[in-house]
Amino acid sequence: MNIAQDSVVAFHYRLSEEGGSEIETSRDGSPSLYLHGHKNILPALEAAFEGRTSGDTFSVTLSPAEAYGTRRESNLQRIPIKHLMSSGTGKVKPKPGMVVSVQTNQGVRQVTVVKVGKFNVDADTNHPLAGKTLTFDIEIMEVRGASAEEKAHGHAHGVGGHQH
Ligand code: ZN
Repeated sequence: MNIAQDSVVAFHYRLSEEGGSEIETSRDGSPSLYLHGHKNILPALEAAFEGRTSGDTFSVTLSPAEAYGTRRESNLQRIPIKHLMSSGTGKVKPKPGMVVSVQTNQGVRQVTVVKVGKFNVDADTNHPLAGKTLTFDIEIMEVRGASAEEKAHGHAHGVGGHQH
């Protein structure tokens, strides 16, 4: 089946800076899963999936505006350490250069720690990939229709997707 509204798509990806080295890949784990047409992934990336099918491979290059935005200089913010979230269960011990998640009014954001104090950190609130032109090398592993529950939730369920 071809990818259309409410398709659940399993795909492997390799993310790199245009003409540069690899930033991230799904190849060492399960494929990623998303629900098409629900803004689960970057809109420009989602558009490149439209109409494709299982077994397709393709590359798509996104400008910073299409990906994570342009970098703003001096986007420093002082954040209480207790507001930092780790992906695991333990407490975060921030170090300069570390990318951590913060709960904000606009949802969870990723920031980069610049300086660590006793109770606060100074963090760069630019997205870690802001300002970068990014290339995604994609291989589509599986396409299926969404369940009623997945449509209601607005995301895909299963390994590589939402598990709750
Ligand atoms: Zn769900």
